Amino acid sequence: MAKPDRAVWQDVLWHLRQNHPDTCRQWFEDIQPIGIEGGVFQAYVDQSVRQRYLQRQCAAQFTEALQAVTGKLLSVRFLGPDDGAALHTNAPRPPAGSSAAGSNGQVHAETTGGEVRPADRSGGIRQGGLLISPDYTFDNFIVGPENRLAHAAALAVCASPGRTYNPLFVHGGVGLGKTHLLQAVCQRLISASPEMAIYYVSCEQFMTQFMEAVQAGEMNDFRHRFRDVDVLLIDDIHFLAKRDRTQDEFFHTFNSLYQGQKQIILSSDAPPTDIPDLEARLVSRFQCGLVVQMNPPCYETRVQIVKQKGRIRGLNVPEEAACYVAQHVSSNIRELEGAVVKIHSLSVADGEAVSLDLARRALESDSPSVRPEVSINNIIEAVINYYSVKLTDLQSKRRQKSIAHPRQVCMWLARKHTRYSLEEIGGYFGGRDHTTVMHALKAINRRRQTDADFGRVLDALDDRVKAAGNGPSGVTRAPSA
Ligand code: ADP
Ligand code: MG
Repeated sequence: MAKPDRAVWQDVLWHLRQNHPDTCRQWFEDIQPIGIEGGVFQAYVDQSVRQRYLQRQCAAQFTEALQAVTGKLLSVRFLGPDDGAALHTNAPRPPAGSSAAGSNGQVHAETTGGEVRPADRSGGIRQGGLLISPDYTFDNFIVGPENRLAHAAALAVCASPGRTYNPLFVHGGVGLGKTHLLQAVCQRLISASPEMAIYYVSCEQFMTQFMEAVQAGEMNDFRHRFRDVDVLLIDDIHFLAKRDRTQDEFFHTFNSLYQGQKQIILSSDAPPTDIPDLEARLVSRFQCGLVVQMNPPCYETRVQIVKQKGRIRGLNVPEEAACYVAQHVSSNIRELEGAVVKIHSLSVADGEAVSLDLARRALESDSPSVRPEVSINNIIEAVINYYSVKLTDLQSKRRQKSIAHPRQVCMWLARKHTRYSLEEIGGYFGGRDHTTVMHALKAINRRRQTDADFGRVLDALDDRVKAAGNGPSGVTRAPSA
């Protein structure tokens, strides 16, 4: 297998940060590149939850970044602790205890249609129709007065599953952290006891799998799948309403687990008594453990959440910017997160650290990425005037600083304001390849951060180029490799 160049991998991460800030997470730094085999770039992560998340959620972005950086047609595959293949490579073994999901904690994939693999009794988290997010851990959960009880109850359940509160029933409005809390429980449990069999499933999947099992005459499999576990978590159980047969089946599933002292955790948008058409016997089952409510976050909690959502993206959101967001977005936490994503995108697009001013701009404009359309001629004109160079020099092979620097500025501006690819920009400025353009973008970004005078020059050129653009249209992109 061809070994990857570490610098190439760093470029891939850099490219992702510039072009897919929304996808990027701080923990991407822990991904270990393994090598290239048959056009597939392989990388290793030490947690099954992360591996599955990367493969399902991020493969397209990584593929795009790999292709842009290497100029080769590559695809990507993420290996994890359960991949025998990884053991035959130089992939590092996961350090003991470092894994939120547990180094042995397996994630069992469901096949298409949400069917889980034929049930085996090996430990791990199975995910029916849902994907566990590596972000949804206790570490990333901000505790405030509005969710303190639910958080404490979830921790207590992790400390002694099946014994403390059974079932644990968490309810609250949309976007208040129910799913986050359930997934945090999954990750904490599997980290402490990798042999534990956990099934985390949406209510919808429970119903679908039930109907499919009935039609296929495979009720034994179905029952085995749901009852032969140590912990069953069902998200959004309120969807069970109005399905008589499914309610009946769930009643028996519940009883079987409960009698076996297996932990049941349910989330819902309403308390058991308020779920319409829920059979009385289920209402009373749901109430026999602990029912806790999650409420909308207060201002202080919101401020902390904004900072936390920034941190997991590797973004430092200063206090005043976090306060500004918390003041302006109060409805639900998903919207707070949306605000952080907007701020992140603008910060990358403008190459600026997050500040109160940037937060304000990001939230004021619904579409911060819409800018005047700029042509390559606008860019050349601005740069030629400022640096007193000739176009023929910019397009030549000459490398002296007085030409190479303005050429790099052109490349940076072209990447920021036009849709041209790295190859096209490189080709235009003297038949250079995409790696030269990437290098130029990095050099300009670096200098911009360390040299305030240059920063001002670049901003002025940027303004001139924008002013020369003619009217709003098109989406510009960040200057990136
Ligand atoms: P629900 O399932 O209640 O609709 P989610 O669990 O999907 O809500 O939460 C929506 C978003 O808000 C997620 O990104 C989640 O991480 C975030 N969130 C909710 N509560 C918290 C919290 N206390 N700390 C940090 N993030 C939170
Ligand atoms: Mg949810």
